[in-house]
Amino acid sequence: MRKSRTLDRKSGSRPSSTISESLVSRTRTQVVIVGAGPAGLLLGQLLHRVGIDAVILERRSAEYVLGRIRAGVLEQGTVEVLDCAGASARLRKEGLIHDGVGIGFEGRRHRIALKQLVGKAVTVYGQTELTRDLMEARAASGCTSIYEAEDVALHGWGGASPKVTYRRNGATHEIACDFIAGCDGYHGVCRASIPADKSRVFEHVYPFGWLGVLADVPPPWSELVYANSERGFALASLRSPTRVRCYVQCSLDDRVENWSDTRFWDEFRRRIGEEVADRVVTAPSIEKSIAPLRSFVVEPLRFGRLFLAGDAAHIVPPTGAKGLNLAVSDVYYLHEALRDHYRDRSEIPLDEYSARCLRRIWKAERFSWWMTRQLHLFPGDAFARRMQVTELEYLFESAAAQASMAENYVGLPFEPAAASARTQVA
Ligand SMILES: Cc1cc2nc3c(=O)[nH]c(=O)nc-3n(C[C@H](O)[C@H](O)[C@H](O)COP(=O)(O)OP(=O)(O)OC[C@H]3O[C@@H](n4cnc5c(N)ncnc54)[C@H](O)[C@@H]3O)c2cc1C
Repeated sequence: MRKSRTLDRKSGSRPSSTISESLVSRTRTQVVIVGAGPAGLLLGQLLHRVGIDAVILERRSAEYVLGRIRAGVLEQGTVEVLDCAGASARLRKEGLIHDGVGIGFEGRRHRIALKQLVGKAVTVYGQTELTRDLMEARAASGCTSIYEAEDVALHGWGGASPKVTYRRNGATHEIACDFIAGCDGYHGVCRASIPADKSRVFEHVYPFGWLGVLADVPPPWSELVYANSERGFALASLRSPTRVRCYVQCSLDDRVENWSDTRFWDEFRRRIGEEVADRVVTAPSIEKSIAPLRSFVVEPLRFGRLFLAGDAAHIVPPTGAKGLNLAVSDVYYLHEALRDHYRDRSEIPLDEYSARCLRRIWKAERFSWWMTRQLHLFPGDAFARRMQVTELEYLFESAAAQASMAENYVGLPFEPAAASARTQVA
């Protein structure tokens, strides 16, 4: 493995850089990864396992990154990628395997028997825990992560010698590299660095958001329950046997301050269906936030020596639990493309990265859009309501429709690495 020549001290989950206050450091690595969310950390770990050196630059502190409450449902393929990354020991021990998922409609709960229908299940394990595991794996690998890197800027990604600069503790630093991986989320700098005429954006913004509450109580139901109610959508979700994450649909201009815990739990009970509502145990929230819902894809995902992955490239509404899972499949594909490129000295795997990812991304976008359309209240749209009722009745009556939903919910299979790359090597 080619190791970074760096003046910066190796750091893992804790920011521990000793970068000089005044000097500009110049270092080199194979891949600079911008962003230490799940996509960036996992890519770093997968690259390390195949002998490719990478430096991770993150603008926040490690503590801040760990404090973000987000996803919690992992597809089977995601768990297998974490096995490959050597970061799944705790997940395999503590993750909760769910063989089914509930859909509440007109007060009744219908179970979609995932395992029975398609032979696969999902694993409930909080994104925070996953991030912690990846940070620990990175610290153990001795690879460089730089937290609190300000003003990260990309240079020369259209040519053969890209560079990334950043500031830390008042000094400017530069890292020369072969490739840049933009894993810096929806608001990051990487996608923003691409001129508008070089990419195409597809976007759909939904006319509502999700109000989410995290609380330390046992879950009201052993599996997730997504409810379509006349008062709006609700989701009973969990992070562990003692911690719930519950949501209600809210308007886009709503504010967290308008929702006392009592108001939230009352509304949640009204929407989630009697059977589940009767078992709801309430407690003061430990986190409460509102997230808007959007579908977003940028094409392509490769711009010269810059590659986008995860939320930097696409956003899904959380209804299908796909955001984190898609970030994992993107970086899995990217690590394969980089591995094959270094091994075979071929551009083909890199050329095929974008199309390979986008085929999976659009299928997940479709499924997340479909789940969102069927389960939320779209006020004033009587036709949409009739379509929802018809779709849901069909789903509950048809084993084929249930198998289709289950196949998508547990995650579509990963595509094998491109045949053309293998052919060229042979
Ligand atoms: C509020 C919220 C709730 C969510 N809930 C769910 C859910 O219930 N289910 C689900 O499946 N998905 C959910 N998601 C989506 C899921 O969390 C994301 O898909 C997932 O985090 C994507 O990982 P990522 O690493 O691509 O991006 P991120 O997790 O966003 O990580 C990007 C990282 O890049 C860093 N960064 C940004 N800009 C810069 C810069 N200029 N320089 C350096 N670093 C930078 C950020 O600080 C961040 O650490 C939610 C997302 C949000 C925002």
